[in-house]
Amino acid sequence: MNKILEIIKDEKSIAIAGHVRPDGDCFGSCLAMYQYLSQTLPDRQIDVYLEEVVPVFAFLKDSDKIKTSVEMEKEVPEYDLFISLDCGSKDRLGFAEPVLDCAKKVVNIDHHVSNTKFGNENHVIGDSSSTCEILFSLMEEDLITREIAEALYLGIVHDTGVFRHSCTSRKTMEIAGFLIEKGIPFSKIIDKTFYEKTYVQNQLLGRCLMESIRILDGKVIASCIDEETMKFYGAGSSDLDGIVDQLRVTEKVEVAIFAHETALQEYKVSMRSNGIVNVSKIATYFGGGGHVKAAGCKMKGRYHDVINNLVGHIANQLENSKSERE
Ligand code: 5GP
Ligand code: MN
Ligand code: MN
Repeated sequence: MNKILEIIKDEKSIAIAGHVRPDGDCFGSCLAMYQYLSQTLPDRQIDVYLEEVVPVFAFLKDSDKIKTSVEMEKEVPEYDLFISLDCGSKDRLGFAEPVLDCAKKVVNIDHHVSNTKFGNENHVIGDSSSTCEILFSLMEEDLITREIAEALYLGIVHDTGVFRHSCTSRKTMEIAGFLIEKGIPFSKIIDKTFYEKTYVQNQLLGRCLMESIRILDGKVIASCIDEETMKFYGAGSSDLDGIVDQLRVTEKVEVAIFAHETALQEYKVSMRSNGIVNVSKIATYFGGGGHVKAAGCKMKGRYHDVINNLVGHIANQLENSKSERE
């Protein structure tokens, strides 16, 4: 794979964007790329689009340069090059999708196994821990500043669940080591952006754990939050991050499901697997996608039916894996 500066030819204008509801990897990779290109190609017009500036990630350099949906111009701007980061499918770009459609060339850099390869060039490495890890390999090491290192570290920390998930490799740790040597406040980044919760976030977590149910002899755990409760707490969807991960670490659980009601009988579903079940396959079946152990989709209907549908697929996979082992 060519390095970033070999991928970019003489394109004068470049747009960078990531997926809706930007997480640490999406936010970090977009800003790392923005900083890297702005610093090495100062003669180009470079813009970065993200749905929102997530407050806890706003310490990253150039987060004030992000164009959010609110700032989107009426007319869709045309770029010579569109770089999509951490985004498994075109529709997940949200408000930035029309910007991609109008661009002359699209480069897609991602690590979702479900990636639909929608770019003219696709750098998709499914076994990479994060898009930030891929970006590191595409950057010249001596051009990585302390601020770029902070952005890359944020992405790696978030997508590996602080180096716990099985996507963490020796290479991931070596990259993290290199980034730490740049003098970044690595411990603070972990505490402030990953572990620290607001009081409301903790209350929501507590509620969802209290109301969780166990299915298939405890192999599946599910919980949900409705619109009314979200309104009561004045919470947004980013306040729900981490709930499904806490459900997953319940003893005996193979798959955790968390459903967030976004409109009447409409749910944003998050799934986490402990290894046997491929949740990306299930999410893709329902029109979403993700990774083998972490995936999501949108589903319509009553909560009851949503869970029944998902549990049917989980039970099939568990049954198949049992017969394979026998
Ligand atoms: P989360 O459950 O944290 O929202 O997402 C877990 C993983 O699945 C992430 O990598 C995310 O990009 C992916 N994902 C979540 N929801 C969707 C969806 O609706 N469509 C697709 N294609 N991927 C999703
Ligand atoms: Mn992501
Ligand atoms: Mn990612």
